[in-house]
Amino acid sequence: MDYFLDVILPLPLERYFSYRINEAEAQFIQPGMRVAVPFGKSKLYTAIAVSVRENITVAYEIKDIEFIIDEEPILQDGQIKFWEWIASYYMCSVGQVMKASLPKSLLLESETVIQINDSTIPDEANLSDHEFLILEALENRKALKVDDVMAILDRKTVLPILKEMLNKDLIVIQEELYNTYKPKTEKYIQLATEYKDEELLRDLLDSMTRAPMQRQAIMTLFMMRAGNKLVKSKDLESRADVSRAVIKSLVDKSILLETEQEVSRMLMDAQEGNELHELNEGQQKALLEIRESFATHKVCLLHGVTSSGKTEIYVRLIQEVLAQGKQCLYLLPEIALTTQLISRLQYFFKHQVLIYHSKYNLNERQEVWSLVLESKEPYVIIGARSAMLLPYGDLGLIVVDEEHETSFKQFDPAPRYHARDAAIVLGKMKNAEVLLGSATPSLETYYNTTVNKFSLVELKQRYGDVKMPEINMIDIKEKHRKKRMTHHFSDTLIEHMKDAFTNQEQVILFQNRRGFAPIMECNTCGYAPQCPNCDVSLTVHQHKQQLRCHYCGYHTLIPIECMACSSTDLDTKGFGTEQIEKEFLEIFPDQKVARMDLDTTRGKYSYEKIIDQVESRAVDCLIGTQMLTKGLDFRHVSLVGVLNADAMLNFPDFRAHERCFQLLTQVAGRAGRTEKRGKVLLQSYNPDHMILQQVSAYDYSTMFNQQSEDRYQFKYPPYQRLIRITFKQRDYNQTLQAGQWFVNALNQIEHGVEVLGPEFPAVSRVRNLYNVHVLVKIGKKHSPETVKGFIGKVRRSFESIKQFRSVRCNVDVDCY
Ligand code: ADP
Ligand code: ZN
Ligand code: ZN
Repeated sequence: MDYFLDVILPLPLERYFSYRINEAEAQFIQPGMRVAVPFGKSKLYTAIAVSVRENITVAYEIKDIEFIIDEEPILQDGQIKFWEWIASYYMCSVGQVMKASLPKSLLLESETVIQINDSTIPDEANLSDHEFLILEALENRKALKVDDVMAILDRKTVLPILKEMLNKDLIVIQEELYNTYKPKTEKYIQLATEYKDEELLRDLLDSMTRAPMQRQAIMTLFMMRAGNKLVKSKDLESRADVSRAVIKSLVDKSILLETEQEVSRMLMDAQEGNELHELNEGQQKALLEIRESFATHKVCLLHGVTSSGKTEIYVRLIQEVLAQGKQCLYLLPEIALTTQLISRLQYFFKHQVLIYHSKYNLNERQEVWSLVLESKEPYVIIGARSAMLLPYGDLGLIVVDEEHETSFKQFDPAPRYHARDAAIVLGKMKNAEVLLGSATPSLETYYNTTVNKFSLVELKQRYGDVKMPEINMIDIKEKHRKKRMTHHFSDTLIEHMKDAFTNQEQVILFQNRRGFAPIMECNTCGYAPQCPNCDVSLTVHQHKQQLRCHYCGYHTLIPIECMACSSTDLDTKGFGTEQIEKEFLEIFPDQKVARMDLDTTRGKYSYEKIIDQVESRAVDCLIGTQMLTKGLDFRHVSLVGVLNADAMLNFPDFRAHERCFQLLTQVAGRAGRTEKRGKVLLQSYNPDHMILQQVSAYDYSTMFNQQSEDRYQFKYPPYQRLIRITFKQRDYNQTLQAGQWFVNALNQIEHGVEVLGPEFPAVSRVRNLYNVHVLVKIGKKHSPETVKGFIGKVRRSFESIKQFRSVRCNVDVDCY
């Protein structure tokens, strides 16, 4: 009987690959185990076993697997099914999902490097010729690639030899093939068994009068052991106030026994017990409503104003689910994963809290992976987007906090998934409840509550009956006219800042400057030219002297005067946080200021450092970009100033208005989170702009209704789905031609599916590659599966065209 194994390779391949295995292997292998397999020209990869079968017809030559890596599956039941869903929905390969999911330490690629294992002295008499040759080569060259080994031995099948050498501990493999993972250990100390007898212990202590330090160490250990916990050597040292040498000498005399044990990096020491906060009436009611809603809807939106105490509600739900022995997943945008929130959750859930995010190293990530896989106890896993890809078993609840955040969408590389949307699917597969939370829900999510797909629970009061901050508009057009501006600061803003500083209160200044190409703006009236076909601002293309639409390709010459007021004082530059900081210090030379933007938060703890400075009131004023809006909870901020609210209205993006509302509402929410009512000043050229009016009135529902109307009109989500196909190549014409070829092919899609482009995006050249976009809009009457199937087919033909071989083609489903 022949046996074959289908595997997932961590590559952008359309399908699974099959390898030959023997009968014993066929019986041993379970789906979700890793196997090492050859692929391509003598390349070696870690693959994931999918299924074993007995017959096969494929067009390629079937190779043998090299060997099986795991004794047990490293994936949960059903996890491959979830990978398959992501791959099919987001139009990528399952291998790409695999690569995004597994911590790198579980993945091996062929470029694997082997090294001599310094801790083993080889028994030369027992070495095979091959082994001898390899070790000899390693003595000279320190490290070898698998390819080098093939050359040295002049044979192809070297992996069994290497595997044998690994088993004998002769070599180690750098990085992937075997775990580079090293468990963290801790030394524990206890009294030798014979001294458990109290009489013997007393005799011992009596005999130690001339060694007072040693005596003290033993006495202290005796006291510390009262609770019968294990005692760390380190803790004993510090509690008894003795040196390591004292403990060591007691160990040498066999009075104390020292053992080394693996400890988890991720599991925190349990702190002293803490009571949960008591919920106020509004929270109580919301909690009840959420629980009830889960009876009929699997997904619930908690729409609660800033500082309404949503976190306390999550905590209650998580607590209930953990008590049922199920796991919880708590997703947050990366930047909101602050120590503020984490310590708040650890306070409640202690060692049951696991944290998973990109600033953690490989060992830490692998450790979380294993803990979740084994799930010896229920955990709440807190993490950014990728935490959704962990091997969940019995998952009871998923919380997606700040669900409106666009950073939940992965941009590059594939899989280009939206963590909120994928979490909803994961919830369905796992039969887990999903709670989305936000003070400013995304249009998509809110829409889903209006069509009864999600349930809706509202929380309209701030915790402690603190009033929502008062939002006032400042008309800077008029201030300019009356010469009441100092740099970018109006006299009103300066006045209020002075008051705040006098009262020992802090100020937040918000200036959003993101990496978009400049848009054109009139210095006199603030007007920014719009596309006639789409609901977006036109982007300035300086080199062509054009204004262009990002979405439909409309373009026009850069006008000499403002289309609204005929002023010739037109500007394409914005101003950034750095400039504001400089101006601030000119106006307030005695105040301390900190800046929070991409430039000041590069280092590992730099973000936390700034937060600490604000919390400890080492700074009076915090200036920042949208980073400021992510769930920060400061106690002493009484004033928030927005220097130019218009800048955000004019992004070349159909979501610009929605985002502006969200950003301003969130940044306003940083003010006055305790007793005193906070104040927010919005400087704007268009204080009458409907979005700014809606922000200052906290009128989410009018914003929602108007924006939905526009989205419907201009055929954007949630009424239509968008798929963006991006082409990248060094050559301008080639890239454009590739896009054109694709559009022509796509135009054969059934009538009604709109194909826009090819169009150069605002930033058309990135790292020497030209970018060309094609946008597909899918209406409700079309099946997205059919359209995706068709796009996939076009992509396959595209990839087989010689002329376009060097053009990269990315597909982004539900693009942002
Ligand atoms: P949101 O996430 O809705 O913006 P938070 O959960 O951050 O609001 O709560 C705002 C503040 O109110 C926090 O400082 C929190 O500790 C406090 N708070 C909320 N609910 C309670 C409660 N039930 N008891 C005590 N303090 C609470
Ligand atoms: Zn104008
Ligand atoms: Zn347009």
